[in-house]
Amino acid sequence: MPEGPEIKRLAQRLGKVLVGKPLSSVAFSYRTLGIFDQELSSSEIELVDSRGKALLIQFSCGKTIYSHNQLYGKWIVTRAGVEPKTGRTKRLVIQTPQHRAALYSASEIEVLENSTVLDHSFLKKLGPDALSEETHWREVAERLMEPSFKNRSLGALLLDQSFVAGLGNYLRTEILHEACLHPDLRPKDLSRSETGKLARTILEITRLALKTAGVTNKPSRVKKLKRIGLTRSRYRFSAFAREGQACYRCEETIERRSVNSRRLYLCRTCQPDRLQISRDNS
Ligand SMILES: [Zn+2]
Repeated sequence: MPEGPEIKRLAQRLGKVLVGKPLSSVAFSYRTLGIFDQELSSSEIELVDSRGKALLIQFSCGKTIYSHNQLYGKWIVTRAGVEPKTGRTKRLVIQTPQHRAALYSASEIEVLENSTVLDHSFLKKLGPDALSEETHWREVAERLMEPSFKNRSLGALLLDQSFVAGLGNYLRTEILHEACLHPDLRPKDLSRSETGKLARTILEITRLALKTAGVTNKPSRVKKLKRIGLTRSRYRFSAFAREGQACYRCEETIERRSVNSRRLYLCRTCQPDRLQISRDNS
């Protein structure tokens, strides 16, 4: 499933072809939403943005299209009049004289009033967005210490959109590996400096992924790996999907686990299971 950085890049790509352009048509495939076709078509798109993993298309008529792709939704942008070959079900098509942007297979699409977008049941529950410039690492550090978050394992917490919005499965592995923390640790097990480092890492890795289209390995390391001819899939991550390969920091073998029913990769040396060790010693 695409994570925050992928949705933000999608919003930027759609924004480039849609914002401020004359609209030839806006057409929903859902009959219940079809009542908005006319009003939206004669309006202008002011902004395309993401909030966590939700996409928001804001129109000058005062309405916003909210969509959440879940597992299957996909936007395809083509030149105007060109219908892409796909077996997917069409949900929404927005056309300008130059482009056609179409959403396929997504199950969650709604039309909201601009003024009440943030009251939407999904958006209301989201924590601060890792990709918003307004989110400071100190706010994330403070949230780690809140009663509703501090007793939960980091492996579970980093996937919870009400903690910080926009994180997902590959980011979880990459953040914990970079911060040298085991997924079973809880915020309350961390020292003050570890809490600060984790909070900074959450924002840094997610923002790096936005800038690099999903490459979360250290930029200096990526440079070296590219120089020796490795392809993107080999240099992209520091730990995710690297089971059986050597940790870049310590050369220990990266292991794969299942945490909250999703795959997670870790280095046992860089991310020691301190809770297990202290149990063994007592
Ligand atoms: Zn290591």
